[in-house]
Amino acid sequence: MKITEVKTYTAGEPDGRKFLFCRVYTDEGIYGVGEASAWAAIQTEIHNKASVIIGEDPFNIERCWSKMFLQTHGMAGVVTGGAISAIETALWDIKGKAFGVPVWQLLGGRMRETLRCYTHADTPEKARELVDEGYNGLKMGGVEGAAKRVADMRAEVGDDVDIMADLHGPPWMTTRDAISMGRVLEDYGIFFYEEPVAPENPEGLARVSDAINVPLAAGERLAYIYGAKELIEREIVDVIQPDAGRFGGLTQMKKLAGMAEAHYIQFAPHDGSLGPIGEIASLHLCATLPNFLIWEHRTGDAQCRYEIMAPQPEVVDSYIKIPEGPGLGIDIVDDAVESYPVELISGHSGYTRDERYDSQFVYARDRRGRWLKPE
Ligand SMILES: [Mg+2]
Repeated sequence: MKITEVKTYTAGEPDGRKFLFCRVYTDEGIYGVGEASAWAAIQTEIHNKASVIIGEDPFNIERCWSKMFLQTHGMAGVVTGGAISAIETALWDIKGKAFGVPVWQLLGGRMRETLRCYTHADTPEKARELVDEGYNGLKMGGVEGAAKRVADMRAEVGDDVDIMADLHGPPWMTTRDAISMGRVLEDYGIFFYEEPVAPENPEGLARVSDAINVPLAAGERLAYIYGAKELIEREIVDVIQPDAGRFGGLTQMKKLAGMAEAHYIQFAPHDGSLGPIGEIASLHLCATLPNFLIWEHRTGDAQCRYEIMAPQPEVVDSYIKIPEGPGLGIDIVDDAVESYPVELISGHSGYTRDERYDSQFVYARDRRGRWLKPE
């Protein structure tokens, strides 16, 4: 079997969430699908990477990965990580389809038949709605009023629901402020404290880690085992969060999980800005991992995510079943993708609206006192 062509697909909402998928085609009629972070540069880079794997046997996943990684002379970065992720995921899909087995079977077989998931809630009202739907894990995002929102959510849902707090590591966040926030959150029994400082600041993250007593999570903006190894080897984090749309592929994520396992660090892949195909790819991997913790399932951010992939995952009481079909067990729905045309012209699919950008990155520090007050 030989790789013959790689195509990219975009879908989304002009002022909201956007998604970037690819299909890798072969000369035997089998194709695979994958997803990357929806950045224009990654879409271009997918076509660039395709140029070095056309004609290769898609079963030789490590060889294809190496050719794509080394094409840009190493130090390949997160944009290339995204492009490689989309293509490499599609190669696993091809292999699974060719052998008639799910990708999780190829990645080591399953540890479990269902995976625990969490989704996102930023207000106590939303938290209540999701808990009533069956979720028992919820993540609150952002710095503004974070302590109060966590306190209100805990009061609303009680102690049987795990609450996570993600500060999205804004570039203006000082290490000392991140420690102050972490100490406030200690009182609410949070499941983990995510990206309290910017990802460019691992030393700051290490200082936060030493100073607080809540589990620390990070890793969504890193690429490859090389990008994440400092967090693992220094045991800075308790939870590592590679993103299936930019870390560099399922093989890299599996290797990272092994590195983490040796340090008793748990694995909870990031999915805050990914679409449904990247989610399903990480689901297959998580099914195989001894140190899997919890799976992020994005809901309610864009109507098109429920239409552009089939079949759709079903979450029952905060657990999702591992797919049984060959390959990833899902496909892009072409008609639906065509009905949500969008160009990837923004730098980050989540920050295209000015008011959100301003509150996250420009003015948030102006109201420091409000971050830390739980009431
Ligand atoms: Mg995050």
